[in-house]
Amino acid sequence: MGEILTAVRAGQEAPSDTMKALVYRGPGFKSVEERPKPVLQAADDAVVKIVKTTICGTDLHILKGDVPTCVPGRILGHEGVGEVESVGANVTMFKPGDKVLISCITSCGKCEYCRRGMYSHCLTGGWILGNEIDGTQAEYVRIPHADTSLYRIPAGMDEEALVMLSDVLPTAFECGVLNGKVERPGLSVAIVGAGPIGLGALLTARFFSPGQIIMIDRDDNRLTMAKKLGADVLINNAVGDPTDRIKALTGGKGVDAAIEAVGTPEAFELCEELIAPGGCIANIGVHGKKVDLHLEKLWSRNITITTRLVDTVTTHILLKAVEMKKLDPNQLISHRFPFARILDAYDTFGRAADTGALKVIIDMARP
Ligand code: ZN
Ligand code: ZN
Repeated sequence: MGEILTAVRAGQEAPSDTMKALVYRGPGFKSVEERPKPVLQAADDAVVKIVKTTICGTDLHILKGDVPTCVPGRILGHEGVGEVESVGANVTMFKPGDKVLISCITSCGKCEYCRRGMYSHCLTGGWILGNEIDGTQAEYVRIPHADTSLYRIPAGMDEEALVMLSDVLPTAFECGVLNGKVERPGLSVAIVGAGPIGLGALLTARFFSPGQIIMIDRDDNRLTMAKKLGADVLINNAVGDPTDRIKALTGGKGVDAAIEAVGTPEAFELCEELIAPGGCIANIGVHGKKVDLHLEKLWSRNITITTRLVDTVTTHILLKAVEMKKLDPNQLISHRFPFARILDAYDTFGRAADTGALKVIIDMARP
C-alpha cells in the first residue's frame, strides 16, 4: 500500500509529457501511438483530459480518404466528455477540474458566422477537431475558444450519455428535425437510415407530435431498435421499393418531411420519390458522390431541400432535455471498449451490419 502511494506521488511530481492517441496515417491506415501531450497555444485554449470518447461515421469517411482537410498524422475524434486540465489566461467560464462536454464544433462566438448562429462556419473554428487539428481519441485534447466550445456538465449527470451530445444528437436534431420542419403537429415523417444519426432524428422528432414516423433501413436489427425508440412504421428497403407502401400510408401524397440520414445517392433519391407537395427534404448524410436532383418531377411541387453542417446551437437545449429525463441518449450506445482496444472498437463500428453496432463508447478509465 505504502509503495503504491509513493508511486502515485512520484508520478505526479514528474508527469508524463506523452499520451496515447489514435492517429490517422493516410487512407486505410490508423495506429495507436505515443504522442506529446497537448499544451495551451492561445489564451482562450483549454487542455481537457478525456474521460469518454466515441467513433463517428465521419471518422470512417476520413479513413477512406474522403476528407482532404484531414492530413496523415492527425489524431482523430471530435466527440467526448472530459475534465479540464489547464486553461489559458482569457478563459473565464472554466477552471481545472471542471467536467465538460466537448462540442464537435469549435466556435469563437465573435465572427460574422458565429454572430449569425452558424458556428459550423466559424472563421477560426467550425469542424476542426480531429480534422484540421488533433482530436479527442486520445488521453488529452487542446480545445481552442474553450469558453464557447465546451459545456459544463451539471453534477450527477451520466457522462456516457452526454457523449451523444457532442455531435450525434445536435446533428440529428438541427440538420434533420428542425430543418425538416417536423415541429408542425400531425406530419408524416420518413427517416431514411436507422443508424445512430437516423435514430437520433427519431428520438428528437418525438419532442414534437408527428402523425407518423416511418423508418426505412436495409437492416432489420436497426429497424427493431427503431421500433423500441418509438417508430410507427418500419420498412426494409432491401426487400423492395418502399414508395408504394408509403403512398398507401399517406393517402397517396407522400411524406411531409423526408430526412436523409445515410449519405448515398440512393437514399437521397428515395427522399425525392417520397416527398409530398409542400414537403421538406432535410439532408443530414455526408455525401461523397454526386446525387441527381430530379427537377423534372419536383419543379412544381413546392418542396424545400435543406443542407447543413451541425451548428451545435441546440446543445444547451438537448442537455436540459437529458437532465429533465425527456431524452435518453444511452439508447444509442451499443458497445463499450477501453482505449487499449480502440482498434477493436473501430472494427466493431465499421462492421455494424454484422456486429449490430450503434455508437461505441471508448472509456479512458477502463483497464
Ligand atoms: Zn461526427
Ligand atoms: Zn466564430
